[in-house]
Amino acid sequence: MPFSSLETLKQRLDQREVSAQDLAKLYLDRIDAHNTLLNAFVHIDHDHVMAQAKASDDYRAAHDTPRPLEGLPIAVKDIFCTQDGPTRCCSKILEGFDAPYDAHVITRLKEAGAVLVGKTNMDEFAMGSSTETSAFGPCRNPWDTDRIPGGSSGGSAAAVAAALTPAALGTDTGGSIRQPAALCGLTGLKPTYGRISRRGIIAFASSLDQAGPMTSCVKDSAMLTAVMSGHDAGDSTSVMDAPTIDWLGACDQRDMKGLRIGKPKEYFIEGMDADVRATIENALKQCEALGAEIVDISLPHTESAVAAYYVIAPSEASANLSRYDGVRFGQRCDNPEDLNDLYMRSRDEGFGNEVKRRILTGTFALSSGYYDAYYIKAQRVRTLIRQDFLEAFEKVDLIATPTSPITAFALGEKADDPLTMYLSDIFTIAVNLAGLPALSQPCGFVNGLPVGMQWIAPAWQEDCLLGAASAYESATTWHQQHPEAFQ
Ligand code: GLN
Repeated sequence: MPFSSLETLKQRLDQREVSAQDLAKLYLDRIDAHNTLLNAFVHIDHDHVMAQAKASDDYRAAHDTPRPLEGLPIAVKDIFCTQDGPTRCCSKILEGFDAPYDAHVITRLKEAGAVLVGKTNMDEFAMGSSTETSAFGPCRNPWDTDRIPGGSSGGSAAAVAAALTPAALGTDTGGSIRQPAALCGLTGLKPTYGRISRRGIIAFASSLDQAGPMTSCVKDSAMLTAVMSGHDAGDSTSVMDAPTIDWLGACDQRDMKGLRIGKPKEYFIEGMDADVRATIENALKQCEALGAEIVDISLPHTESAVAAYYVIAPSEASANLSRYDGVRFGQRCDNPEDLNDLYMRSRDEGFGNEVKRRILTGTFALSSGYYDAYYIKAQRVRTLIRQDFLEAFEKVDLIATPTSPITAFALGEKADDPLTMYLSDIFTIAVNLAGLPALSQPCGFVNGLPVGMQWIAPAWQEDCLLGAASAYESATTWHQQHPEAFQ
């Protein structure tokens, strides 16, 4: 049962075969058994989880219709503000911070009856691709515990892959939902920018950040996104009249007849793992067999995406992180000599090296004299990248690519080499710059490690992503495989 989908668990709850308290106990026991090794969770409050589960069982007993996520355990990344328990973004600087309110999506999950099981490990402030920059130590990949789970939502990915929870939330600024989902054999969905409120999600790069689900199958991602999405007056970037979608209905598609899938030549390149490439090409052949037409396309500005992202994201981060000054949030240095000393030492002691590197890069890119050369230029590149996609979507319905050029790498392998680490984001970043929805799903294994295929759709067409991914999923069994050590 632990590896069941949300959909299956929901049916079993509805048929009264299990209670929310049974499920909560089951997953808490698995967390107790495996978290010391995996380090997927950084906060668990057993009593609070059981109390929520009891409240859900009581609700079910008192009402004719259960709420959409009634009694289902969901874990959330430590980036979401939660009134219950700590919210630290896996940074020392937020030690002792007590969030004054729940993030909008947390409120939505609670209102839908979900049982929140705890906070998951992540790269500090979501800056990273391996969950190694966490102040709580690295997280491990259940498929091979000497390897990274991807990042920055690596704790959420590892937790779902090892069935310590049936589903989790992540955030994606440059790939942090899709890449760990790919490296841990899961489905991860980054919705269109503006689809889900960012209120109460600790900001990294505000024009790129978006929350989304990490699940064991496509329909579960749809179930969670249905609950999470929608306008929120508390976030000016949450879009008011976003086209609505039949989230669950979109998953009932079972073939790909007539679907035009774009295969961009810039995503099948020298330097990527040859076996990963072959795995994706095989998956595309299978899509063809399911009735799709594969169309060769070009997204010519792809090669500038990493460079543009690593100017824009740090620039926004340098502004967003200026609030952690030792005065209002968390960590404050001892015995400051004066205000400047308070700021400098609190920040120096509270932030880790990767976060400092981003703040320095961003501050430099925004400084007078360099602003035009770096920040403005990166914004121009961003426009070109968006136009590439718009032109491509005149010819095709969807785009398919690898999610990551490689499978999960060894812990420590790239930790001291930021540029190589940044390059591992090469296939996910353009999507954030263009604000588009994208989904990663399992499509094979290389040397026992999962490979993810990324689907990219035009803005607001998550239904198209879900349809294609469901059709592929129902023709394959990759999503049903689980790491042996955790069965
Ligand atoms: N790996 C990318 C970065 O380090 C993306 C992170 C994210 O999506 N939060 O910035």
